[in-house]
Amino acid sequence: MSPQSTTKGPPSPTHFIARNHDGPDPDTEYGDRDGQCCFCATVGPGQDPTEPINYDYFNDDDLMRSKTGHVCSSCAYCMQHARSIKIGHWIATTDHYERVSTGDLLETVRSVRDGAYDPPLSLYIAKRANISQHSYLWTPVSYSADPLTFAYARQSVTIGLDDLLELVTAVEVLRYHDFRLEDIRHGRPRIRDLQSVGRERYQRVDAVIDPHRTTATLETALTLSRAKDDQPDEPKLQ
Ligand SMILES: [Zn+2]
Repeated sequence: MSPQSTTKGPPSPTHFIARNHDGPDPDTEYGDRDGQCCFCATVGPGQDPTEPINYDYFNDDDLMRSKTGHVCSSCAYCMQHARSIKIGHWIATTDHYERVSTGDLLETVRSVRDGAYDPPLSLYIAKRANISQHSYLWTPVSYSADPLTFAYARQSVTIGLDDLLELVTAVEVLRYHDFRLEDIRHGRPRIRDLQSVGRERYQRVDAVIDPHRTTATLETALTLSRAKDDQPDEPKLQ
């Protein structure tokens, strides 16, 4: 980071991504002049916003903290350099950046819980993994791995990872008995699914899920959860 920075530590995941993505040096490529970034507020090298911002695909001026007339080299890098940065789930730290497939998300969250990624870190979980968007501009930086603050779509979620993984297990118990995601989301099971899981077990599982109904936390758990065919064994709540 620039020695002129006025913010402590990496203030935005764009700095993690630009530093660790397999591309040119952001300051050399996009550091034409100095200023304060309108997105992440870092003071340092960057560009006039007309360079990185292409209004054919960027129409979200609300992501700007202020109209400084400057985009730092890291934010500029993410906006311009590679389309792959704009699609799907990802995790980034000061020395690592990785795109994550939907099938690998649960393992990634377990690894975060187990200490495989040193904070500060940023985790973005997409609602639809195939849509191009500027998630690196709104995903928070978490200074703790557990509890973790991350972004699900445009919402920020903070939760202890054992609690999140218990919620995922509760969802997987129901999916193992063929519950549809919509029925889990709304707490309206089909009779045959209820008979399959058993009423007493359903009540125990639903007691874990119900406090999270209508939240981004439950949507995260639904995204992380595996369908019956992808579960190695019948899941059990602790
Ligand atoms: Zn910036």
